[in-house]
This record gives sequence, C-alpha cells and structure tokens, in this order.
Amino acid sequence: QNDGLSPYLTGLNESQMDAVQTTDGPVLVLAGAGTGKTRVLTTRLAHILATGKAFPGQVLAVTFTNKAAQEMKERVASILNEPTVERWWLGTFHAIAVRMLRAHAEKVGLGSDFAIIDTDDQLRLVKQLLKESNLDDKKWPPKSVLGVIQRWKDRGQTPDHVSASEAKEFAGGRIHKIYQSYQQRMKELNACDFGDLLLHTLVIFQTYPDVLADYHRRFHYILVDEYQDTNVAQYLWLRLLAQGHQNVCCVGDDDQSIYGWRGAEVGNILRFEKDFPGAKVVRLERNYRSTGRILAAASSVISHNEGRLGKTLWTDDDEGEMLRVRGLWDGEAEARFVGEETESLQRQGQSLDQIAVLVRTGAMTREFEERFLTLGIPYRVIGGARFYERLEIRDALAYLRLVNSADDSLAFERVINTPKRGLGPAAVSVVHQLARQIETSLFKAAQEIVETDELRPAARKSMAGFVAQVERWQSLKGDMPHPELADLILEESGYLEFWQNDKSVEAKGRVENLRELVNALGEFESLPDFLEHVSLVMDTNSQQNQEMVSIMTLHGAKGLEFETVFLPGWEEGLFPNQRAMDEQGLKGLEEERRLAYVGLTRARERAIISFAANRRMHGSWASAIPSRFVDELPHEHIERESDRGIYSAPLEPSYGGFGSGRGWQDNDRGSPGMQRARSYSGGESQLVRQAAQKVSESKSGFGRGERVFHQKFGYGLVSSVEGERLTISFDKAGSKKVLSNFVVPAEKA
Ligand code: ATP
Ligand code: MG
Repeated sequence: QNDGLSPYLTGLNESQMDAVQTTDGPVLVLAGAGTGKTRVLTTRLAHILATGKAFPGQVLAVTFTNKAAQEMKERVASILNEPTVERWWLGTFHAIAVRMLRAHAEKVGLGSDFAIIDTDDQLRLVKQLLKESNLDDKKWPPKSVLGVIQRWKDRGQTPDHVSASEAKEFAGGRIHKIYQSYQQRMKELNACDFGDLLLHTLVIFQTYPDVLADYHRRFHYILVDEYQDTNVAQYLWLRLLAQGHQNVCCVGDDDQSIYGWRGAEVGNILRFEKDFPGAKVVRLERNYRSTGRILAAASSVISHNEGRLGKTLWTDDDEGEMLRVRGLWDGEAEARFVGEETESLQRQGQSLDQIAVLVRTGAMTREFEERFLTLGIPYRVIGGARFYERLEIRDALAYLRLVNSADDSLAFERVINTPKRGLGPAAVSVVHQLARQIETSLFKAAQEIVETDELRPAARKSMAGFVAQVERWQSLKGDMPHPELADLILEESGYLEFWQNDKSVEAKGRVENLRELVNALGEFESLPDFLEHVSLVMDTNSQQNQEMVSIMTLHGAKGLEFETVFLPGWEEGLFPNQRAMDEQGLKGLEEERRLAYVGLTRARERAIISFAANRRMHGSWASAIPSRFVDELPHEHIERESDRGIYSAPLEPSYGGFGSGRGWQDNDRGSPGMQRARSYSGGESQLVRQAAQKVSESKSGFGRGERVFHQKFGYGLVSSVEGERLTISFDKAGSKKVLSNFVVPAEKA
C-alpha cells in the first residue's frame, strides 16, 4: 500500500501514516508504550522538512532529554540524507527556553549574558532573605522555602500570580514576600535559576504580544514528545506558542506519566481537545516493541489503576518467552542472579548493549555494579554517575578515609568544609603552609594549628572542633563495628543532616545513597578492606566503545527499549515505594504502578522480575514481601521460581508464606495479597493452587523409600517428602528433616 511513497514513510501503519501526514492543524497522538509515537514524531519532522513545508528553523521540537534530542537529530538527518541540519529548535524545554530568553532577556530585567545559578547559590540567597526578614530558619528551613518557590514556578506563577489566599498558606504570606525579593535579587544579580528559564519566557510571551507573534510567525510546526509529563508552566508555554499556526502535534501516554511528584500533570493530555478545538486524536494500538506475553503482563498490571483513558494494545509478534519472576534470599543473591543470567545471555550471543537493569532508586545500582565488576561484565550507569563516583559518596568516603588514615590529605581537604564549618580557603591555606613547612599531613598540621593563634578565633574554634571530632572517630575505630562507626560519622559530622535538610529533587536520593554506603560497609571485614575495595572499583575505567549492560532508574528508562530487561527489587515498600505512597497516597501508588508499566514495556523479548526476601536497609536487615505488582501479573504468562535455599527460610519461621515453593499459594500469607489473589484468579484459584502444589511435590526430585546421602548425616532412607523438605531416617543419625538441595541420591554420593 506504500507504493510510490518516500522511503521514510514505508512501513508505517495506517494510523501512524495519518499522524505523520496530517501536518496541518492540531494532532494528539495518544497511545500506549511501543506503538511508535516517537517514531511518528521523528518521521513527521522528516516529512515536514522533506516536503518543503518548513525549514528546520521553523519547527520547534521538544524532547524529554538531551539524549533524545540528539537521537532525533541523527535520525532525521539520516532520513533526509543530510549530515547535519543547522538552526534546529530541537531540545528539552529548558534548552529551548534558555535560547529564547537570551534573545529577550532585557524584557524581564536581565542582561543577555545572565548566569544560570545552581542550588547552592539559590539556597544562599534564600538564607540571606530569611535573615533580612527576621524569619526563623529553624521553622522555615531555606530548603523548604526554596521548595515552595519552585512549586510556584512549576505552576507558572510569578510572585504577582500567586493569589492572596495561596500566599497566606505559608508563614502568613511572608514566604511569598521572600519569593518577591528573591526574584528581585536575581535580577540585580543578572541571574536565573532553572525554573526561571521557562517562567521568564512565559512572562515575555504574555506581556509582549509582538514577541509572541514573532515566534508564531517563526514556528510553523510544533512537535512534543512525552507530553504526559509536562508541568503547568510548560503546558502554558506550549499553548501560547502553538496558538499561532496551530500546527501542533503532541504525543503521549497517560499510563506513562511518572513525574507527578515533580508537578507534571496528566490532565494536560485531557485538556488538549479543549484547548485546540477540532484537534485530531490519533490512537495507535499496535505495539511493535514487545512480545505478546510482555504486553499482556504490562497491560494486566496497569489495568489495576483507576481513571485511565483506556487504550487497546495488541501485537503481531509471537507470544514469546514467559516472563520470569524470581524470588531470592537477599539483594546480594539477586545481584548474583542477574549477573549469572547476563553471562548466560552473553554466551547465547546476546549483545550487552541490549540488556538493561532497571532499578527503582538510584541507591540500588551499587549491588549490580559490584557484581558486574566482579564478573568483568562492562556496564554503564545511565542518567547518573556510577555509585562510588557520586558526589555524596565521594564526600562520605573522604570522611572514612581520613578516619582510616590521618595522613590522607586529599580526604582532609575534601571534608574540612563539607558541610560548611566556616573554614574557607583562607583557613585551609594556613594549614597548607604549615604542612609544607614541617613536612607533615594536613590533618597533623591542623592539630598543631589549633593549639596556636594562627587562625582567627572563630575559625580556630571551628577547626579545633573538627580535629577533636576526627580524633574521637579515630579512637572509636577499633571498638565499634565499622558500619556503625560510619553511621556515627555521617551523623556527627552533620553531613547526613546537610542532605536531609536539602529540599532539592536529588537530595532524597543522596540520603539513600549514603545509607546504601553504610550497607556496603557491612559486607566487608573492616574499614581498610572496604576502602581498598572501593579504590580498586574506582580504578576500572570503562572503555567507551565496547558493549555494555545499562543500569538505570525506571524514570531514566522512559522512551528506551532493550531486548532483555531485568526488573529487580519488586518488593513492597521498595516498589511500590513507601515514600511515594506516604506522600501521595493512592495517587502515589498509581504513579508507582505506571512506573512498573514503563519498566515492563521497555523489554522487547525478555523481562525478568525479581525480589528478595531480605533487604539490608540502613545497615540492618528487614524481611520483605513481594510487591503487589507481582500479584498483578497474569499467571499464565509468568514462570515463577524461587531460590531453593529460601524455601524453608530457617531464620524467619514466621515468614512462612514467601517463596515457600507453593507457587501462587504464596498469596495465602494473610497480607492484603490474599484479596488480590482472589480477584485475579477468580474461581480458578483452587485449581491453580492444586496444580502448583503437585508441581512442588515432585520438585525435590526425591521419592519415598529412596536411598540418599546427606552431607552431614550420611546415608538414609527418605520417609516423607513435603515440597523441598524431606524427612529422612538416617542409618546413624536417626530421623531428621532436611532440605533436598543438601541431599543426593545414594548411588551418586
Ligand atoms: P514509548 O511509549 O515507550 O516512548 P513509543 O510509542 O514512542 O514508545 P517508539 O519508540 O517510537 O514507540 O517505537 C517502538 C519500537 O517500534 C521502535 O523500535 C520502533 O522502531 C518500532 N516501530 C514503530 N513503528 C513501527 C512500524 N510501523 N513498523 C515497524 N516497527 C515500528
Ligand atoms: Mg517514545
């Protein structure tokens, strides 16, 4: 049917073709994962350029990440067979807004060379303002104040746009006053924060109709990917720009809206038809990415959300492999499992580039990184640094290094004023001088200096306090388990608190990483052992051009696809994430479920879900139960396996239910899972359970009366079989209950 079409159009299905070729007028492509939304957008861009409807500079294309923008550029360039296309307006909201703002900065009282400031500077400014207005920064921590300001900005509200009643909610309106002075001060500084980039351009569009008209004339076409994740400010910004030619095409999937916690509003999709009357809504239903089973699993999970727009998804692909759900003893075993599976896939010829491990929180990458390092499997962490290279981890490691060895001057320099202790460059340079003169380490020099008057009194006091702290930690080294010591150091140094008080988006992840660091310490005999391990790990520099497994968060995986996807940590509390549920209730849970949907739909051929029965959290062990999302997977597409070692769970007798080898009967553990079990399997459940029971009975592979050998008890006869548990009457040791995986047939012994 595509005869006579330009080559880039061939292969598109009818609806896709429709979305690509309906270049004029508003179009909303509302479709599930893997249906080709991004492909439609890219092809549409190519089509607009190839047919001469517009020059590259006349199309505005918004992507969610810089990486996505780059990919789109490359794909369009290759479709058009032109090496590079100049003057694109193709990038993230921020990248595009900053370019516009530079051109019109004076309209909001800035110079075109304005600086973009970071969170540190923002906080310093807020702190000053709090002081000036006599607000108690205990009651109004600068970070929370900044959080309020950012929320206003995300909603497109300048200080003038905040209603009186809304302003009153925060310190009776005084935070709103701070917002006003904050914006005023930023102007004086000729600076912008990230939120301002969008907010200022929005204000310019609203107050300078001629500027907006200019952009209307310029942008003949507007394209937006991942529309479901736009926040209010972005939405208003787009709507204003699109009102010119009205040739706007947004693509999105309400089921993949995963940035609600940052102010994104799915409602923007629903409003599209109201904002652009006569909009064409295209639905794509054929999924080109995943196997039938993967699609069925993803659809089943997401069907538990309410208030969906509802979409049909089908695939022509084979059913494919069963999804695997694997229960493991703990996080380490889980990482070992993922490592082994990866090796086995590699042996079967799968490229490592086609394998991804998608984790719920950034802190979870560590265990997988270490496993891959041990196995020598190259990996990259996408959307973030490798664990031990992260800012907060390097800071914390510096504390540990200094405590481990007072001579570690690099470590000393890193932590002396982190968090801030009023020991700036001047004080540090005095220490440096002395260290050079008496040829000693910085720490030892500091010990000397605090006995003198070389420093100003305030600095001296602060330095003396720091030195005394480090000395105390050093003295505790021998007496205290090293993970506890690390905990103590992070507390007493104020470093943990520093991040706990930080209200920026990344701060919570940093706190989690610090806790994970304490977990990691617990896996080593001693502090020096651990530090040696870290320096070895840090030393492996990755070669860029080889194939690598990707490790990233579920959030970071949006829009991507891989042949094999590992989805670890499917445990209640971790995923769905307790914090998300605490903060947002049912909304939070539904957003977590959408995240599960995003995760599953990244897989083309193979999805391997796993959970651990025990997690080390903040240094101590907690037993975990499988995520409710596991129960929401359709059992006919799932192969559920649990580690043999955890069937009898000897350490946790009360834990009974988990992984007890009874297949789906797990749901009888008396948790809310029980109701869920009924609802998914309905009248069948009894049958399913009986079937599962049968399987497990033969699973041990031993039968009554069989003669066996056990490592500890010697030879004996099997007297009964109960799943993995055997009762054996041993020749010498008498009758014992043992696990089948410690037993071999007598003739093989
Ligand atoms: P997501 O919601 O995850 O962002 P998407 O809807 O943007 O997914 P794409 O990434 O554009 O989907 O496409 C998914 C996969 O299907 C890609 O590998 C793409 O090349 C392929 N695909 C899309 N349309 C077709 C088609 N008509 N024929 C063959 N393959 C297609
Ligand atoms: Mg996409």
